[in-house]
Amino acid sequence: MLPYLANQRTPNALKREFELSTKKRARVRILATGGTIAGSADRADTAGSYTAATVSLSAILDTVPGLHALADVDARQVAAIDSKDADPEFWQELARHVQQALDAPDVDAVVVLHGTDTLTESAWFVELALAPSKTVVFSGAMRPATALSADGPMNVLQAVRVATDASSRGRGVLAVMNGAIHRARFLRKAHSSHVHAFTSGAAGLEGEVFDTVNWFRPPPASSVGQLRCDGLTGRDAQMGLPADVDTAIPGGATDVGAAAILDGDEIGYLLGTPLPRVDILVAYPGASTDVVAHLVRAGARGIVFAGTGHGTLSGPIQAALADARSSGLAVVRASKVDEGQVGWNVGCPDHALGFMTSGGLSPDKARVALMVRLAKEKAKEKAKEKGQARSGVRALLEDYRI
Ligand code: ASP
Repeated sequence: MLPYLANQRTPNALKREFELSTKKRARVRILATGGTIAGSADRADTAGSYTAATVSLSAILDTVPGLHALADVDARQVAAIDSKDADPEFWQELARHVQQALDAPDVDAVVVLHGTDTLTESAWFVELALAPSKTVVFSGAMRPATALSADGPMNVLQAVRVATDASSRGRGVLAVMNGAIHRARFLRKAHSSHVHAFTSGAAGLEGEVFDTVNWFRPPPASSVGQLRCDGLTGRDAQMGLPADVDTAIPGGATDVGAAAILDGDEIGYLLGTPLPRVDILVAYPGASTDVVAHLVRAGARGIVFAGTGHGTLSGPIQAALADARSSGLAVVRASKVDEGQVGWNVGCPDHALGFMTSGGLSPDKARVALMVRLAKEKAKEKAKEKGQARSGVRALLEDYRI
């Protein structure tokens, strides 16, 4: 009997096995930060009453059969928090770990395990701050590790499966949950308890993962073009451009601060210096305007206003935000509605008032984009000052022929 019939493997299966055995194995660094995926309760019949961030990464990975067949895994516990407690310092710390992995020649892709409550902001921060050239996939879980049918182990396996897929590059930072592949840019948490808690809304999923990965669209022809867009639209002298330059570029995004890809020194500054304070205010009937003045006094550098409908502002709020803008704060008009765009100069004289708009970004992502943009401007300025100081010294040495 032919050998492939004896062990019931077809020629194709044998070919696949041969290819797998000769293929360079993907090397994936997994960074764990806590969250429900690392949560535990003293009973298996509860998915709601538990303590997040109590199970170690190695214990989680022990529950994922097949993981080591997929990739060489380098697992690191970099934090252990409930992501409700994440703050901009945490984003910077996490981004430093991701950057280390991006710089490491023996790492092909990165998977970040994170609480789902603020996973969207962290993933978007990593995308805008680092513009990663390797695949970075975020994942988490809605049920703690001790619950019946915990979703964490399968999410880990599928996140690694996506991270090691050859077509995962150039799509921006990704998130994998419950078999769905999302882009960080469109990702939104839309349910407080279902395992299918995330949506990409009208923009749609990037793909799905089951035992294999199924992409719904090809990666963008130029990932650089994508990464240069932070989503904010505006025309703003304060954003590092002359007042008469319209910063809107085709596609409705803007090519200024946050769009810039930073060099090593600049990234070091961005991740090592406190990020500027930006607050979100939300529209509701009868909203008072004094909180806007309070934010100006408190030292905020920017305000994202989650307006009604198409980012519309009541008369008093518009006046208060215009005052804040005159005091030097950046103002972004966003919407508290889940879907749709907030277009620049549509329904509001943004040009005259010096406001930016959020495009299709949610208010929380518009906030991250504004913080990164302001911080990148500072980082570029600082790096330039340092460069000038260096060239000043060089000129002196040359003058004196030292
Ligand atoms: N509170 C948890 C967290 O964000 C929720 C979760 O992970 O699903 O850390």
